[in-house]
Amino acid sequence: MIEIKGIKSHRHLIFKTGFFTAVILLAALVCACSSKTVSDSPATQTRYDLLNTVITISIYDDVNDDVFNEVFDRISGIEKAMSVTLANSEISGAAAMAAKSPVVLSEETYLVVKEAYDITVESGGAFNLAIGPLVKLWGINTASPRVPVRAEIEHIKELLDYNAVVLSDTDRSVYLTFEGMSIDLGAIAKGYAGDVAAEVIKSYGVKHAIVDLGGNIITIGGRPDGSAWRIGVRNPIIGESGYIGVISVQDKSVVTSGSYERYFESGGHYYHHIFDEKTGYPADTGLLSVTIISDRSTDADKLSTVVFVLGLRDGLEFLKNYKDAEAIFITNGLEIYMTPGIIDSFAVTDNRFIIASE
Ligand code: ADP
Ligand code: MG
Repeated sequence: MIEIKGIKSHRHLIFKTGFFTAVILLAALVCACSSKTVSDSPATQTRYDLLNTVITISIYDDVNDDVFNEVFDRISGIEKAMSVTLANSEISGAAAMAAKSPVVLSEETYLVVKEAYDITVESGGAFNLAIGPLVKLWGINTASPRVPVRAEIEHIKELLDYNAVVLSDTDRSVYLTFEGMSIDLGAIAKGYAGDVAAEVIKSYGVKHAIVDLGGNIITIGGRPDGSAWRIGVRNPIIGESGYIGVISVQDKSVVTSGSYERYFESGGHYYHHIFDEKTGYPADTGLLSVTIISDRSTDADKLSTVVFVLGLRDGLEFLKNYKDAEAIFITNGLEIYMTPGIIDSFAVTDNRFIIASE
């Protein structure tokens, strides 16, 4: 039996102080529902038709629709350029020209591809921007995922070689050396979109806002009363819901990569959507999820994927290169490990999860 879990929108829940009010996400209809600022209650808009997820923007300042429209337009542009699934995106264009010729990218797409390339090299392929053929082989982002046989994985392995991705800063071009190669920005583009959203919102003079981009949270300032935002960390156990703890943050992005976000079941095993290029299988390092808290959402997104693939020990080591990135790891054994900088800002609310130390 195959079961695929869809929209990833509940990685983090945003709570109001006092009693917990989860941000409730309604039916997946395309709509932009607007409400106006009244003192402490935000102006909020939600869209269900972008980046294959649910995006909610809540602004605690007196604003009109312009700011929302501009954010959604920018995100729509990012999707059109960077999607792996849209046939006429820049990323699909580069794949179509693999082994034929370099493809010149827009400034914005080149910037994200370059950052994806750099983190790929830095992480030794734990994050691999050339993972596209493997993601396609598993069909994990489709309605009919399947477990490939070993020979199929072996067959595409050389297409995952990130050294065969050739970037040129001079003309902002990308060249994929072998036919069948493709770039997948699924582990970073949403993070980038979050930073763009924050930048646009701030350009309107907004001091307090929160963006929920399919579970990636971006906070601007703190709550209007000066207190921190309270962000719930999703219960990572497959089949369960809710949250297991609350992070208090201001001016930070909070992003989680977890095995529960998108997965299917086959032959009694669960297979999720974050792959280890070395094995060709979903990364299996004893973690259920990793949450990164960072100034930049792009960093939080790319690092959550890196660290999920590296596992606890190597992940902690890797994060030493990123001074402003804090992490919360949840292991298969329901143990929680944290980097020192987040310990005081995180409270466990589900006592089955135990804070452990290395
Ligand atoms: P989410 O998509 O839920 O935000 P991630 O940020 O971890 O989670 O990104 C997972 C997506 O990134 C996958 O759906 C796939 O498209 C792509 N991907 C999977 N494994 C890797 C990897 N090792 N490196 C880079 N991208 C990956
Ligand atoms: Mg990611």
